[in-house]
Amino acid sequence: MGTAHAKIGTSPLVGIDHFETAKVGVTLAYYRDMSAYRYGNGVPNAVNIGWLGWRNPFFRRGQMPEELVEKLKRLALNPEWKTRGYHRCPFCPPGKRATIRVGAKVLILGSAEIVVESDLGKVYDSPDLIVHYVEKHSYLPPPPFLEALGSMKI
Ligand SMILES: [Zn+2]
Repeated sequence: MGTAHAKIGTSPLVGIDHFETAKVGVTLAYYRDMSAYRYGNGVPNAVNIGWLGWRNPFFRRGQMPEELVEKLKRLALNPEWKTRGYHRCPFCPPGKRATIRVGAKVLILGSAEIVVESDLGKVYDSPDLIVHYVEKHSYLPPPPFLEALGSMKI
């Protein structure tokens, strides 16, 4: 929880889908929540969740229920696929890799994507960094994503 921390409040999340090059020279993808997913391998009709960017440090904040956080961690342990390159947290100091603890394991985040699917087949694609954003930066994904995650058998 540093000073570069995102501001409290909901995000206007304006802007179009685009890539940003961070100061450290690492390519970051920023996508608005619920926008159409086009990155990487692509899942037909998937939407983006949790692709936060340093130029857009405004996002929905709140406390995600612990059982949902645990589910996200289990998804991060078994990601859908690896991303091209490595993404770092845009809100933490440069050089610091985002990690999470899952049971006895420490998982380094930033190079994989996870997928959440609702009962109705709606697909949400996220960087595995979403777990870090939730834990360390109080990011709270939109309600449809939380509902889908809650109903997943994982
Ligand atoms: Zn961070």
